[in-house]
Amino acid sequence: MKNNQIILNSRPSGFPVADNFGYATTEIGEPGEGQMLVRNIYMSVDPYMRGRLNDTKSYVPSFQMGKALQAGVVGQVMASNGGKFAEGAYVTGMGDWADYQIIDGEGWNQVDPDLAPLSNYLGVLGMPGMTAYVGLTEVAGLKAGDSVFCSAASGAVGQVVGQIAKNMGCHVSGSAGSQEKIDLIKATCGYDEAFNYKEEENLPAAIKRVCPDGVDVYFENVGGPQLEAVLMNINYKARIAVCGLIASYNAKSMDDMPPGPRNLMMLIGLAAKMEGFIVSFYPEACAKWIEIGAGWMKEGKLNYRETITDGLENAPAAFMGLLRGENVGKAVVKIADQ
Ligand code: NDP
Repeated sequence: MKNNQIILNSRPSGFPVADNFGYATTEIGEPGEGQMLVRNIYMSVDPYMRGRLNDTKSYVPSFQMGKALQAGVVGQVMASNGGKFAEGAYVTGMGDWADYQIIDGEGWNQVDPDLAPLSNYLGVLGMPGMTAYVGLTEVAGLKAGDSVFCSAASGAVGQVVGQIAKNMGCHVSGSAGSQEKIDLIKATCGYDEAFNYKEEENLPAAIKRVCPDGVDVYFENVGGPQLEAVLMNINYKARIAVCGLIASYNAKSMDDMPPGPRNLMMLIGLAAKMEGFIVSFYPEACAKWIEIGAGWMKEGKLNYRETITDGLENAPAAFMGLLRGENVGKAVVKIADQ
C-alpha cells in the first residue's frame, strides 16, 4: 500500500521555508506480530517542532534528514496483528507526517470519538491542554485569588490556561497578536482582560493596565520584551512558569535573539521564582488533566477554537503559519476523513 509522507529535506537557518520540507511516497507493509497499522486522520503542528528541525541536543531527538517528520496524530487502527488496540479503534500518539504508520502501541492511547471531535485529542484534551494544567498547577502552584497573566493567550495552550485559572477563582489577563484573538479569549476562554501586544508602545504599562493588582503567576509562552514587561509588574513571591519562548525559536544565532530580561533583579527583590518545564515530565498531572478536561467537555464547559488545514501536503504551510501567528487556537492538519 502507498504511503505519502512529508520528510526533512534540509535544516532551516532562521525562519523555515518550503524547501526545508520534501514529499515522498513509500510502500507500507503489513504489521508484524504485536503491531498495528494506523491510518492518520489528524496531525498536530506545534511550536516545539521548530527545535526538532535543528541538529541540536534536546529532550527530544532532532528530526532526521530524508526521514518522515513526526507529530502527535489521531488515527484509526486498520489492522492489528495481536496488538494493544483492536481493529477500528481510534488512537492517539506520536506518529509520522504521513497517511499511515505501523506502531507497536507504546505511548499510544485509545480515545473516545463520541466524547469530543477527534482533533480535540491533539489540543484541549491532548498535549497543549496538559501543558496548561501542568504549568499552572505543578510549576506555578496556582492558588485561588492569584492574578494570572499569560502570553500567546489565544493559542492551543493559552486558551486552556485562561479557563483553568478562571475556574480556580483567579483574575486572568493575557496578550495575543490580533484584535480577533483578543475578542475570542475574552468571550470564550476566561480572560478578564487582554491586549494586542503588537499595538502597545509601552508593554509594562499595558500589563499594569490589565493586571492592576500586579502579577502573581506569569504563564510564559513567548519571552523577549513581554517577559521584561511582566517582571516590572510582578508581586511578592510571584511564580513564572516558563513554558515556551517562541519569540526566539527562529533566531539564526544568539545575536539574532531577542534580549534576555535586563531586569532579572526583580526576582530577587520580590523573592519570585522562574522555572522551566517539559509537560511530559509530569505524567500523573497529565492524566489528571485528561480526567478533568473530559469532565468539563461532557458538561459543555470547555471552550476551544481550532485552525484546521486540509491535506497532508499542506502541513508545512500550516506549521510555518503557526510560527507567524496565523493560527487562532490549536493548529491541526486534517489528513483524512474520519
Ligand atoms: P500557539 O497555538 O500559541 O501558536 C503559537 C503562537 O505564538 C502564534 O499563534 C503567535 O500568536 C505566537 N507568537 C509567534 N511568534 C511570536 C512572537 N515573536 N512574539 C509573541 N508571540 C508570538 O502554540 P502553543 O499554544 O502550542 O504553544 C505555546 C507555547 O508553549 C510555545 O512557546 C510552545 O513552544 C510552548 N509549549 C511548551 C511545552 C512544554 O512542555 N514546555 C509544551 C507545549 C507547548 P500571536 O498572534 O498571539 O502572536
